[in-house]
Order: sequence, then structure tokens, then C-alpha cells
Amino acid sequence: MATVDQHRVLRTSIPGPRSIELHARKAAAVSAGVSTGLPVYVERAGGGILVDVDGNQLIDFGSGIAVTTVGNAAPRVVERVRRQVEDFTHTCFMVTPYAEYLELCEALNALTPGEHEKRSALFNSGAEAVENAIKVARHHTGRQAVVAFDHAYHGRTNLTMALTAKSMPYKHRFGPFAGEVYRAPMSYPFRWPGGPADCAKESFDVFAAHVHAQVGEDNVAAVILEPIQGEGGFIVPAPGFVAQLREWCSEHGILLVADEVQTGFCRTGDWFASEHEQVVPDLVTTAKGMGGGLPIAGVTGRADVMDSVHSGGLGGTFGGNPVACAAALGAIETMREEDLCARARAVEALFLPRLQALAARFPQIGDIRGRGAMLAVELVRGAGDLTPDPVLTAAVGRTCHAQGLVTLTCGTYGNVFRFLPPLAADDDLLREGLDVFEAAFEAVCAATPA
Ligand code: PMP
Repeated sequence: MATVDQHRVLRTSIPGPRSIELHARKAAAVSAGVSTGLPVYVERAGGGILVDVDGNQLIDFGSGIAVTTVGNAAPRVVERVRRQVEDFTHTCFMVTPYAEYLELCEALNALTPGEHEKRSALFNSGAEAVENAIKVARHHTGRQAVVAFDHAYHGRTNLTMALTAKSMPYKHRFGPFAGEVYRAPMSYPFRWPGGPADCAKESFDVFAAHVHAQVGEDNVAAVILEPIQGEGGFIVPAPGFVAQLREWCSEHGILLVADEVQTGFCRTGDWFASEHEQVVPDLVTTAKGMGGGLPIAGVTGRADVMDSVHSGGLGGTFGGNPVACAAALGAIETMREEDLCARARAVEALFLPRLQALAARFPQIGDIRGRGAMLAVELVRGAGDLTPDPVLTAAVGRTCHAQGLVTLTCGTYGNVFRFLPPLAADDDLLREGLDVFEAAFEAVCAATPA
């Protein structure tokens, strides 16, 4: 297996001439609806480095949106996939099953929070997992309403668009959306009207009163929550919020669905982010990092809930494809063997002091938040003005890109700069990436002072 040297190398400007040439073909071949954040065409990747068609080596601080947690082309993933491709590539588990599907469900049942008996079902994408979790919740409870939060992101299919909060680009002109989806206020400490301390005290009460008045607890099948919100801005709910929500759901016979598609599988320093508040959800959705780069997703939950669905009610042609299962088993083995939860906590320890030092110098950094290797800074006008600054955020991103650092932004207001490095990236590579980010931030802020 060719290993990729773990250093940033710039041979051309970014994007280079071959990338520009390829990108010129995009408009004629690819729907304009599919955008690219950084038009650098990748030829090879390994660990925390992407090698482009011009021979540039870029540091990856995005992991393909929180997917390559184990690193790109991780050896155990590659080996298992290679063996599986040689053995067989597809039968459809619903026609003639295979052991890899069982093994992955067993692993999911064991790893997700809670010691109770569980069952799983496998799908192809995070959105598909969320759709199925809602199907199961409605079927089990006989209720229809689903409550999702402000700033939520759950996918781009019709039902998950309804669950997703942000209009542009995800929902704009794509309606009508699925019915019986209700939105509730999110516990968002940085922007809570009375400030972070009041948020911890008040946000759950505001949520519960809202659902009581506008939906009615008895109508609600499920509340779906990202334990740390992803696309909406890496929002970490105030301490105690998720635990109170858990209790309230149980009281009212409502299922708590934790969407751990982005937070799951070591990303936040534990196998699942729900664990930080010792919360045991009824259903957990997974995808992204689980597959080590191959498309696979799961719904895992209480056996009585998952088994309440009639035979044949769940499935799909490709769900739990054997090659994708093999990749996931390789990824999980890597996470276990290399203790990537501990690695995520070490990444946090490396990043936080650097981000805090930068925030002390630049009032444009309004908030630093996240856990493990899922960290973000929220950028504002600064000097007491919390107005979101998406222009600054985009400018810092472009400057990082030009210097060979792949970065992502997020947030309802487009003003959150997020860090999602692969957990296979070594400290030196992470430090170099942070150097590039800091220099970019300083340069952009110097050009447009607060
Ligand atoms: N849920 C969450 C929390 C996500 O972050 C995402 C993807 N960003 C999804 C669901 C949808 O996953 P996919 O893109 O695989 O459909």
C-alpha cells in the first residue's frame, strides 16, 4: 500500500493548472446544484493529507465532512475492503444475507450508549438513517409529530429537509416538505438572550413550554437532536439540557432520537456524544465516520422499538452493502486498537489553547466551542457586537485554501469556522495546519479590522 508523506507541499498555486483544467469540465458534466468548496481535484490521500492532481499536498482539516476519522485510506479499512471485493460485492441482505452485516449490527449494538438489548438496521447515508429512525418511531408509538430544533441539520431528502432548519441552500424552493415536523428552540448558550448562564437554566423550560403549547406531548412520536449540532454551527447545548430532555421524553412516552451522524465514532472524544451527559437515547443514527470513507449508515435502538416494525418494513437494495460493512468493521477496529477516543481528546487539548490565544487577540472570535476533534470558532463583528460575520469567515477559509489547508465553515449564519481533522493526523501536521489558520486569520483581520 502506498503511504502518503504527512507534510504540506505546495508545488503550484491552489488550485493548480491541472485542477483548473478539470474544473473547467465540471459545468458541462455536473449539475450546477452540486457545488465544491475548494476546486482542487484529489488524486490520492492518506492519513491527514490530500494529494491533488498537480502534486500539491494539502492538510485536511475537514475529513470530507467528518468522515475520514480513521484517516484517509486507513490500512485496516483498505485491507478489509480489498478482501471483501475479491470475495463478493453484493447479494442484497434482504435476498441472501452475509455475516458482515450481522457483525456490524453487533458492533453498533455494543458500542452505542446503554446496556439494554438493542437491534440495528443498516442504510446508505445519514439522511436515510434519519428517515428510518423516524419511520420506526412513528410505527412504534402510533403517533405522527416529530420535533426538531432550530439550527438542526438532518439531511437533504424530503423528510430530512423538513427536519433541517436552514433554508439556503438546503431547502430553498424544494418544498413542499414532509408534514408533522415541528421546530423548537435550541439551547444555544452563546446566543441565548440572557447569556450562557441563563441558557442552562432556561432553555429546557422554553423548549418544553413550546412543545406543550404548539404540538401537544401526546402527539409526539420523537424528538430528534444532534447532541452537538453539526452543520448548524457546532452548537453545544447548555449543560443539563440533553439530560432533562431525556427525562421529559420518557415521562411523555416520546422517543429520543440522537442523530450522531456527525458526532459519533470517537469524533467528540467518546464513542458517542450522548455519553458526555450520560444520556441513553432510544434510537441512535450513525453514518459518516463509521464507514472509514465508504457509504454506510445505521439506526440502532431499543430492541422492543426496533422489533416492533413488521417484517419487510425496513430495508433497501444497497443498505449494509458487504464492502461498506467491511470498511466499517475495519474503521471500528482502528478506533478500538488505536484508542481514537483518547486521540480526539488529545486533539482538543492541542487546539484549544491555540484558539483561546487567538481569541484573546481578536474580538472577532466570539465563541470557541465543541468537543474532541469537533471544534469551532464563531466569528462576529467583534468588540461587543455579536452580529455574525460570514464575510470574514469566508475570507479566512479562502486564505487557508490558498495555503493548502482544507477547511470547512458552517452555521445558520455562515459565520462558524469548524475544525474536523482526521484522527490519524499527527501532532506536527495539526500544528502546521493551525499555523496556517492563524496566519490566515491575522492577515484577513489586518485587512478588515474590527
Ligand atoms: N445528520 C447529521 C447530524 C449530519 O451532520 C448529516 C450530514 N452532514 C446528516 C444527518 C446527513 O448525512 P448524509 O449527508 O450522509 O445523508
